Amino acid sequence: HTGKKPTELIAGIIGNIRVADVQSRPIVIRETCSVYDAIVAIFTEDVGTIVVVSDGGFIEGIISRKDLLKAAMGGKNINELPVTLAMTRMPNIILAAADEPILRAAKKLISHQVDSLPVVEMATVDQIEKFKVVGRITKTNITQLFVNLADS
Ligand code: ADP
Repeated sequence: HTGKKPTELIAGIIGNIRVADVQSRPIVIRETCSVYDAIVAIFTEDVGTIVVVSDGGFIEGIISRKDLLKAAMGGKNINELPVTLAMTRMPNIILAAADEPILRAAKKLISHQVDSLPVVEMATVDQIEKFKVVGRITKTNITQLFVNLADS
């Protein structure tokens, strides 16, 4: 008997879990895509948010279902409308790192009121800091973790 309270035990277990342990594969589109392309990708990939990347897979923006609805309601031809006009851009994107504690990523999802965080690795290209997209953390990952912990 360790003398630890149940809440301390739970915190101890969750505290050792990192983003890499529960992340999903990244879902990305190129920054040259249209709003129409992004809507197709949302359906074919069955996700709520897509990351927009430049050559080499570096993050430029993120686009959600509501961003796409808003763009579609604008009355413009969505085939001609660049996704870059509708997305949230860097540096205003909340990111996660693979070695970050999952609890910290979960707190970011809550405090910034977003559904997903791109998981990135920093790289320096021509002395500019860039972030390569390697995965994503969503509220679904956190819910799955919750279920897995209860089942194990
Ligand atoms: P939805 O808009 O479909 O409800 P979100 O709540 O995830 O989906 O997104 C809300 C807004 O925040 C959108 O404008 C979206 O572009 C932006 N957003 C989504 N994820 C992030 C993130 N990780 N960092 C910053 N902004 C984000």
